[in-house]
Amino acid sequence: MFREAILGAAESPQLQRFVRRHGMRLGASRFVAGETLDEAVPVLRGLNQKGLYANTTLLGEGAGTESETRAVVRAYTAIFDRLAAERLRVNVALKLTHLGLAFDEELALANVRELVAHGSRRGSFVRIDMEESVHVDATLRVFRALRGEGHENVGTVLQSYLYRSPGDLESLLPLGPNLRFVKGAYLEPRSVAHPEKSRVDEAFRRLVERSLTAGGFSAIATHDEALIAHAIAFAAEGGIPRSRFQFQMLYGVRAGLQLDLVRRGYDVLVATPYGPDWYRYLMRRLAERPANVLFLARNLVRR
Ligand SMILES: Cc1cc2nc3c(=O)[nH]c(=O)nc-3n(C[C@H](O)[C@H](O)[C@H](O)COP(=O)(O)OP(=O)(O)OC[C@H]3O[C@@H](n4cnc5c(N)ncnc54)[C@H](O)[C@@H]3O)c2cc1C
Repeated sequence: MFREAILGAAESPQLQRFVRRHGMRLGASRFVAGETLDEAVPVLRGLNQKGLYANTTLLGEGAGTESETRAVVRAYTAIFDRLAAERLRVNVALKLTHLGLAFDEELALANVRELVAHGSRRGSFVRIDMEESVHVDATLRVFRALRGEGHENVGTVLQSYLYRSPGDLESLLPLGPNLRFVKGAYLEPRSVAHPEKSRVDEAFRRLVERSLTAGGFSAIATHDEALIAHAIAFAAEGGIPRSRFQFQMLYGVRAGLQLDLVRRGYDVLVATPYGPDWYRYLMRRLAERPANVLFLARNLVRR
C-alpha cells in the first residue's frame, strides 16, 4: 500500500517540481553520488578503498528521441574512459529505455552494442537493468542478441516479483549468464507480479538457489539479511565457490552490512548512480522504505 502510494504520487507534476528543486539538499545525496561524473568519481574511489566493488549509472530513463539516446551513448563512452583512466574497480549499469527501447528496439540494441564493445576495450562490464514488465521481453531479446554476437561482458537482471522469472531463468541458463537477482522496484499489476511480499521473497530464494546450482554468475542484489544468510548457507553446503557469486546493494543503504560481508570475505558491489535526472530513482528508494520518507521529511523541517 505504502509503495503504491509513493509510486503513484511520484507522477504528480507539483511533487516533481518540489522534489527536483529541493531534493538534493533534503537528502537525495544519500542515494545519489552527485549530479556530475566529477562528483561521482571520488565517491566511487572511496568505495573501492573500503574493499567494495561498484557500478555506476547515469540516471535517466525513457529517452524520447534518437538524438537524446546518442547523447547518452556519448556520456557512457566518456564514463568508461574515465573509469579506466582512474583505474577504478567500477563497471556500468544502464537502462535500455535510456537508449531508446521504448520507441525503437533496434536503436536501443545498436546503442547498447556500441557501449558493450567500448566497455570491453576498457576492460569493463555492462549490466542491463530490468525496468517495467512491459519491457522484459525486449530487454531479454537485446541481451540474447548481444550474447549471440559473442559479447561476454554483459549481463542483465531478473525480478523475483514477476511470475515469469523462473521460466526466463531456465531459458537463459544455457548461456551460462551473468544475472543479477532483485525483488523488483516498479508498480506492477497482480496479473504479472506477486502482490504478497512473502511470495516475492520465496521466489527470490528459489531463483538464487537455481542460478547458483546451475552455473553462470549470480549477483544477489538485496539488503534482506535473511536472504543473504540463506544464499551464503546454500552456497557453502553446495560447495559453490565464492567466485561464482557476489552480493550487490544500493549506495546509501545498509553500508554497515556491505562492509561486514567484505570483512567476511565476500565480494560486494555497491550500485552508485549519479546525474541530474535522479527524481524517479529517488522515488523508488522512498517507496521501498517508509523510514526514507521520514528521513527526507526531517531534513525539510530542519532547513
Ligand atoms: C544492486 C541493486 C540493483 C537493482 N537493480 C534493479 C533493477 O534492475 N530492476 C528493479 O526492478 N529493481 C532493482 N533493484 C531494486 C530491487 O528490486 C528492490 O526494490 C530493492 O533492492 C529493495 O528490496 P530488498 O531486496 O533490499 O528487500 P526489502 O524486503 O525491500 O528490504 C529488506 C531490508 O533492506 C533495507 N532496505 C531495502 N530498501 C531500502 C531502501 N531503499 N532504503 C533503506 N533501506 C532499505 C531495509 O532494512 C529492509 O528492511 C536493485 C537493487 C539493488 C540492491
